[in-house]
Amino acid sequence: MDQISTFGASRYAVRDLQLFRDADDPGVVAALAPCAVIKVAAGARVEDGLRARLYIVLSGSLEVAPDAHSVDDSGTTRVLPGESVGEQAVLDDAVNLAAMTALEDCELLVIEPELVWQLIDRSNGLARNLLRLLSFRVRAANAQLKRRQKLGEFYRQLSLNDGLTGLYNRAWLNEMLPKLAMRARQDGSPLSIVMVDLDHFKRFNDTHGHIAGDAALSSAAGVIRDSLRPSDFAVRYGGEELMAVLPDTPLGLAEMVAERLAERLRTAMVFPDMRLPLPHVTGSFGVATLAAGDDEHALMAAADAALYRAKQAGRDRVSV
Ligand code: GH3
Ligand code: MG
Ligand code: MG
Repeated sequence: MDQISTFGASRYAVRDLQLFRDADDPGVVAALAPCAVIKVAAGARVEDGLRARLYIVLSGSLEVAPDAHSVDDSGTTRVLPGESVGEQAVLDDAVNLAAMTALEDCELLVIEPELVWQLIDRSNGLARNLLRLLSFRVRAANAQLKRRQKLGEFYRQLSLNDGLTGLYNRAWLNEMLPKLAMRARQDGSPLSIVMVDLDHFKRFNDTHGHIAGDAALSSAAGVIRDSLRPSDFAVRYGGEELMAVLPDTPLGLAEMVAERLAERLRTAMVFPDMRLPLPHVTGSFGVATLAAGDDEHALMAAADAALYRAKQAGRDRVSV
């Protein structure tokens, strides 16, 4: 190995280190010569006394746990020979909080921050490599962040939708109805809801089985979802209890929507692909509009009372 390009008594060539690629001129090599090379035994932690230093792995490998400030705390990274750790801490003069552990016996080149800055002043090549490395790390952190956001949205979606029907669930209703009611009060716009309870659904289950019951529920949910405007919401807030939430809809219009839902439900097929389809399910409908000064609880109670009247009057009908 060319003695000029090594530092101190070490056997490693400066040009093999990522940061010094094409930046191993004699001045840089000479500046690196006095740097300490430390040995860390497999399993031991690199103790750096919290001072930010640049470490370059010469042999072995390091495991770096994310530091507390890092965007990317998704897992540990493995640092291989020629790669560096701690450049960011050195550059922004932060305490190095990343925990470094030797995965196998390691030799590390330790560069003090003052020297890092001197080398940056001296070598454009090093500065370029450093920028490239940092840019790569920022990109990786951003990609990780994006993946996480997507995953978060996915789970959030999952927790707000009902698994059987795909409609919004009770958790969604609890979160959104107060907001919709507040907006309606602020804007002075009418907010209506239509509560639907399937009729004699226990009997349907008992007669045709739970699987058929699930299919009937899905069919009813589909009827409601497909009959609403894009600005409306279809919710399954209980077992066989569904709801249409209708912003900007006065009572008379909401009643018409409910009549349309009742009619479509009456004629919707359960298991449309069967030669002998199951009987249609019907529902009882309670309609209410948010009254001035009322909140979402009063709105729900009013719709529930109307629904009760529809049941009492014989089911398969709309009550206001
Ligand atoms: P009513 O006309 O008075 O509403 O009578 P009902 O039988 O529909 O009312 P009840 O509240 O006594 O029974 C509701 C039934 O809905 C009982 C339950 O087994 C059924 N149910 C609730 N959730 C599901 C579900 O996810 N799948 C199926 N298959 N059945 C369900
Ligand atoms: Mg019920
Ligand atoms: Mg019922």
